[in-house]
Amino acid sequence: MRGLNAFAPATRPWLTNTERASNLGRRVTPRICAGLSFFTHRAWGIFCSMHIYTHPEFIRHEVAEGHPERPERLRYLMDHLEREGILEDCPPRLPKDLTDAQILAAHSAEHLQFLQRSEPDQGIVPLDPDTWMGARSLNAARLAASAVCSGVDDVLGGATERVFCAVRPPGHHAEAASAMGFCLLNSVAIAALHALNQPNIERVAILDFDVHHGNGSVDICKGHPEIMVCSSFQHPYYPNRMHDIEQPNIVNTPLLAGSDGDDFRRAITSDWLPAIERHRPDLILVSAGFDAHRLDPLAALNLQEQDFEWITQQIVDLANQYSGGRVVSALEGGYDLDALANSAYAHIKTLM
Ligand SMILES: [Zn+2]
Repeated sequence: MRGLNAFAPATRPWLTNTERASNLGRRVTPRICAGLSFFTHRAWGIFCSMHIYTHPEFIRHEVAEGHPERPERLRYLMDHLEREGILEDCPPRLPKDLTDAQILAAHSAEHLQFLQRSEPDQGIVPLDPDTWMGARSLNAARLAASAVCSGVDDVLGGATERVFCAVRPPGHHAEAASAMGFCLLNSVAIAALHALNQPNIERVAILDFDVHHGNGSVDICKGHPEIMVCSSFQHPYYPNRMHDIEQPNIVNTPLLAGSDGDDFRRAITSDWLPAIERHRPDLILVSAGFDAHRLDPLAALNLQEQDFEWITQQIVDLANQYSGGRVVSALEGGYDLDALANSAYAHIKTLM
């Protein structure tokens, strides 16, 4: 199985060429399942347990000095996954292109034009005090959304059941007509609408356990009863909008500052599980933020790695029951590097 490495993509695709050249001694041996089409998988009888998407452009998305949503987050996470052997079983894949039409299903034309106008030729510019754009940022945001859509295509095509997208910038705060909270395009909402365009997909769920409310996903999906959005979040806290919308397909789960894993598990069990049982989604998308971790510098919840493992197991169980096992997860927040790496690792291991 390891003899046909010519089919595999360049190893460590989250690195730039310079970084890769200086790290050749740590190369991972790719396996044949990397980068092959579904047809080839079937022809060889190979089924990857999980697909992981990433792209070097995600690290080239620049933000202001000292900004918490920094390129090191992704570099640190991918290095951790490599050290733990995850990437040997699931070599990283590169997303294919995203069309403007896919973006415009979720966002207004004015929003896309605003992003295109705002992107600088060099340097970085603020769109608001939190949200920055450099010369590569819109491309990174497009590729992040594309990664989640590629993951949707993979699980719907039967190439795998589980996908994790190691992306930045995050997306769940981006509303239909505005960028905010480090987010330019709402990758998961774009992917949910993309999924609904595929045959036999009538209902989708977005499960968001980032510590911040998924206001952007609620905004984009509130007019789509076929998409259920469940979001747990510290409250009152940023972004403090869209969290009081009462609709059958919107499940808001506020948690007081200081809440721990027991509080989180009780709230998810009482709010999310019956809602998903009611909705019976054909596909589950996850906004996987790890900033509810007790070590995270941006918020004040007290979750630990085992709580992320627990919520992921709940998601897997729901997917196995209602969604043919199909889960596509995308990285959102998480700003303590060790907490992010360890929590995302627990999440991915549970998905596998
Ligand atoms: Zn967050």
